[in-house]
Amino acid sequence: MPMNQSFKNSLFPVLKKITDHYQTPFHIYDEAGIRKTGERLKEAFSGIDVFKEFYAVKALPNPKILKIMQSMGFGFDCSSITELQLCRTIGASADDIMLSSNNTSQEVFQAAAEDNGCILNLDDINLIDKVPHFPELISFRYNPGGRRTGNDIIGKPLEAKYGVSHEQIVGAYKKAKEKGATRFGIHTMVASNELNHQYMVQTAQMLLELVTTISAELDITFEFINIGGGMGIPYQPDIPGLDLESMGSEITELFDIFKKLHGYAPALFMESARCMTGPHGALVVTAINRKEIYRTYIGVDASMSALMRPALYGAYHHIDILGKEQSEKMETVDVVGSLCENNDKFAIQRNLPPAIDGDILIIHDTGAHGHAMGFNYNGSLRPKELLLATDGTTELIRREERAEDYFATLQFEPDHLTL
Ligand SMILES: *Cc1c(COP(=O)(O)O)cnc(C)c1O
Repeated sequence: MPMNQSFKNSLFPVLKKITDHYQTPFHIYDEAGIRKTGERLKEAFSGIDVFKEFYAVKALPNPKILKIMQSMGFGFDCSSITELQLCRTIGASADDIMLSSNNTSQEVFQAAAEDNGCILNLDDINLIDKVPHFPELISFRYNPGGRRTGNDIIGKPLEAKYGVSHEQIVGAYKKAKEKGATRFGIHTMVASNELNHQYMVQTAQMLLELVTTISAELDITFEFINIGGGMGIPYQPDIPGLDLESMGSEITELFDIFKKLHGYAPALFMESARCMTGPHGALVVTAINRKEIYRTYIGVDASMSALMRPALYGAYHHIDILGKEQSEKMETVDVVGSLCENNDKFAIQRNLPPAIDGDILIIHDTGAHGHAMGFNYNGSLRPKELLLATDGTTELIRREERAEDYFATLQFEPDHLTL
């Protein structure tokens, strides 16, 4: 079920009105769907004493969306200064922000310490001595190397630049303890777009076992384990989604066992982004040119700068043509943008109802890692973002980029160096 069906049901009947008013192209997000998924996530883990989602800001860094997350009691996973600023702008507190950066600079550590700080999740043992004011509460990102289970989309942990190795992990907490830390958490992220919930259960199990080992060696307890993001969504039609309810009950069982053995259980944190917002966004474009050469091309009024995933990963995004959903007639086309890059395609050799100029195309599942990944190559400007709100209104939540934005970095004080 690519694109949440209830989103489709609420969007398609009003889409003509929206495109008439705002003009394409735009990404549009479904508040009702995001809230429903958030509640489903909370419900799935309601058997655990403390559960908290830290939405990974990079996937959809729009303050309006972040406020929806905040209203559901969620925190935020950040990795850059601007992401920290974005969360603080909407009033997120220190407990609500987790900094999971890698290759972290001094500037990022300084920004993290401002405004009462945030939860620091360190990516390397060498960073321990580089944190300006070592905090009471510290977390490390664990890279299990050859031990991990999961899919390959994120890359093999042995080749991944992230995290503290298995051999280093006990030493990392020992050193942090010597630095004055008294409260501890642990983090990992070993999957991406994973649809098999077993991998997420195994991730929780791996961290709980690790917590047991580290606790025994260092006489410390853990406030939280953070199993990262990586829960997948079915981009293709007719494939089942991740079984969130089974994931919830199986992880809850692991926490119950841990609690029986140790007399306490840590909180469960996660940083889901794709599964939180992915299916609740769509890129809406207009067909502007139909071209028939060796293949048939449907040229639309947006390019890969509005949605990188197909070009970057060969990712599938389902496409509907408004009013032609029931069409019997189909043709095989490439749906393309206007960049001078042959991978500027939203779909390759896709079966679609015949499109003519002026048709509205809905590109599904752009609510995570969509607009945010965009870029300005070829002078392309990114589209606006809209929110389909639960009160039945539509709101502009980011305007489109304009030429003056593109040229803004060309306005600066002259700076010549004579050599
Ligand atoms: C990107 C990222 C996430 C979110 O991943 P999804 O696959 O979108 O859920 C979570 N945590 C970290 C550290 C990330 O880099």
